[in-house]
Formats: sequence, C-alpha cells, structure tokens
Amino acid sequence: MLSPKNRSPRTYRIVGHQRRIDEREAPHARIERGELGERFRSLHKSRAGEDPFKRVLWAGGGGDPHNSLNPILRDVPEGAVNPDRISVSDPAEMARKIKEVACFFGADVVGITHLDKTYVYSHRARANAAMGQKPGDPIDLSHRYAICMGFAFDYEKFLSNNSRISDAEYGLGMTRTIPTTFNLAAYIREMGYSARAHHYGRYELIPIPLAVNAGLGELGRHGLLINEEYGSRLQLATVTTDLPLAVDEPVDIGVEDVCKYCMKCARICPSHSISFGGKEVYNGVEKYRVNVDSCYKYRLASRGQWTVCVICVSACCYNKPKAWWHTLACWLLKRTPIPLRPLYIKPLLWIDDLLWGKRPWKHMKWLDYDNAPESVTCNISGCQAKHANLQQKRLHHHPKATAKSV
Ligand code: SF4
Ligand code: SF4
Repeated sequence: MLSPKNRSPRTYRIVGHQRRIDEREAPHARIERGELGERFRSLHKSRAGEDPFKRVLWAGGGGDPHNSLNPILRDVPEGAVNPDRISVSDPAEMARKIKEVACFFGADVVGITHLDKTYVYSHRARANAAMGQKPGDPIDLSHRYAICMGFAFDYEKFLSNNSRISDAEYGLGMTRTIPTTFNLAAYIREMGYSARAHHYGRYELIPIPLAVNAGLGELGRHGLLINEEYGSRLQLATVTTDLPLAVDEPVDIGVEDVCKYCMKCARICPSHSISFGGKEVYNGVEKYRVNVDSCYKYRLASRGQWTVCVICVSACCYNKPKAWWHTLACWLLKRTPIPLRPLYIKPLLWIDDLLWGKRPWKHMKWLDYDNAPESVTCNISGCQAKHANLQQKRLHHHPKATAKSV
C-alpha cells in the first residue's frame, strides 16, 4: 500500500478533464463496423474459428451460440434484488467476506474501490435485449462500489504466444469471468443489495483503471494491469454494487520505476504499438500511449492460426511463475526507497534478459497442438534452403541483414 500521503496511483495521473468514453468508440465496436478494414471484420470467420476452443470459448468461427457461455449469459436478464435486506454494520468485515466469496466463485485476486463514474461507458455498443437495452442507449450506472477481480492465465501456455494454445488459454480466462461475476452479483442481490456483473462480452465500464484504484496492481507501459503475483496475465472483470464495503488503496509495486528502464515490451512488440518514449496526455490522463489499432491489426499476421498475440504479456518481466525468487525480488523492490530503485532495477533487468531471453517464447505441444513455426516455402528462384520462418528467409537472402533489422 502507498503511504497515506500518496494515495494516488503512480502509473497514471489525472491532469485535466476526462470525458466518459462511448463503448461504440472501443476497438470491438469499431471492428464490427469495419473501421479497421473488411479483412479484419471477417477475422472471426477465419481458420482460427474452425478450432473447437475458439467456438466454445470465444463464440467464434460460426459455431452454435448455444455451445458458448458468452452469448448465453450476455443476453439473460438480471435477477431480482431480495427485498429482505441484511444490515451491514461493519463494511470492512463485509469487504473481507465478499473477497472470500469472490475467490470461492473463481477469482484469483480481488480488490474494492469506489466506482469512479468516469470509467463507466457513456453509451453502450453491446446491448442486452432481455433487459430492454438497445445499442446506443446511454448507460446510467449509479452503484457506489466496484469489486475488481483478476483471473490468472497459465504462465506456460502464455509462453507459447501466437499459437492456438495461448489462444485457448486466453479464451478460458475470458470465459472464467462469466460464472464468477454472475454468481457474485447474484449472491449480493440475494443479500438485498443491487449488483451488476461486468464480464467478457458484457462490460459497462473500463476495468483497468478501476483495478489500479482497487490495488490489484499498477498500469504498465504496455497499457495493461501488472499484478505483483501474476504480472500482466490477468483477465479483469468487475461487479458493481451498493452493498456497503470498505475500499482498498492503490499499491506501489515499482512498476512506475521498472517501466522507465525496461521497455522489453516495446522492443519485442511486432506491430510497434508500444511506446519507447515518455508518457503522453490523452483524455485528461498522463500515461504511456499504446497504438490500439496497430495492435489489433497485427492479428491479421496470424494467417488464421491464432487470434490474440499476447507477446507483451508473456514477455513482461513481472510475468514469472510462482517462485520464492520472484516474491523476494518484488518484495525488495517495494521496500527500496524510490530514488534508489534504479540501482536495483538495472541489474534485475540484465538478469531477466539473461535467464528468460529478450523474447520469451516456448515450444509447446498440448493436445493436438504444436506451436513450432511453420516452415516457409521459399519462392526465390534456385533456392533449396529450408527456412523455418520468414525471418530466416530474409536473413538467408540478405546476408548483411541482422536479426534486429529483419
Ligand atoms: S499484443 Fe502483441 S501486437 Fe499488441 S501490443 Fe502486445 S506485443 Fe504488441
Ligand atoms: S515489459 Fe517492462 S516496460 Fe513493459 S510493461 Fe513490463 S515492466 Fe513495463
């Protein structure tokens, strides 16, 4: 926890007026309108969509929507609030209980914050007809609290990034948000308080800044939440409610200091979507900018083999398996006075590159999947060489090129 004098997050700073974002401006809505190109709009019908995991976990590929929790629970009405309300005399004790219930229902980490309405979408793109909603309707969410939850992706499967294995893991993480938030919101309504589940396919808010405010972690250079235990590999979801709860405070786990020097995600991002520069002001907030359009468009490079890149997630130096040395490194970083942190961070980053490589990736076989790169057929006349991938082909035919330049 930050000291009482410093309760604002260090990794983003409000410097001006923030307008509420319209969900129709969010990438998914823009993709559906074809604003990122027709090829991209039809991506969900690509070969990646033939995969059964894709059909079940992502509701993609033209599968039966009744085989996927996402479309089923996105369109059900919200349950009624029990008129027999329990009284809450100790919000701190209730917060402790609710966190335990959330973990029982499947969350890996939980934090609570006031619901800052700035992070509630102004209008909806995705509507639930069963609740009388229409696309374009204004969103009026009056709840006081946001219960922010994180669902951890598997470390090993994410190391197989750019594969159907990491895609399946990503889809599972998104899908896990659905029953947990549904059950927690229903549990609170049965205690007599209004509550709403915000999960995959049905968010009325932007979960990352709320999760930062709730102390789940800090905002990284790659635009994602970084949690002390799980790094960036958390899928976020939220339950908003009026149940009286004690709130948590933002934390300082050193991300502000590490991101200044590390830049590993910016170096390896294949679409150059992550900035090497300093923070910029956008919509009244000072933070690192990420080019969301180029990040999404990189999915076209998958040639139908996978959907989500996640290279920056698996490479982030906070993303490590559960081990004593990771806990110790984070513990020492938190306890080092801020001006002295660079002295400790620079050797840590050197060790990180040495042990995990500059571009962490793992060859993995799982079920029928194998993420080994497909060999590239060389179309250069007379070439007999077998190239494992496009980069090798370029290196072979341009001997002066370096791995960095291709
Ligand atoms: S997901 Fe991939 S393309 Fe997008 S920002 Fe991260 S590394 Fe870059
Ligand atoms: S990879 Fe490094 S620079 Fe990027 S978010 Fe993680 S810690 Fe920050």
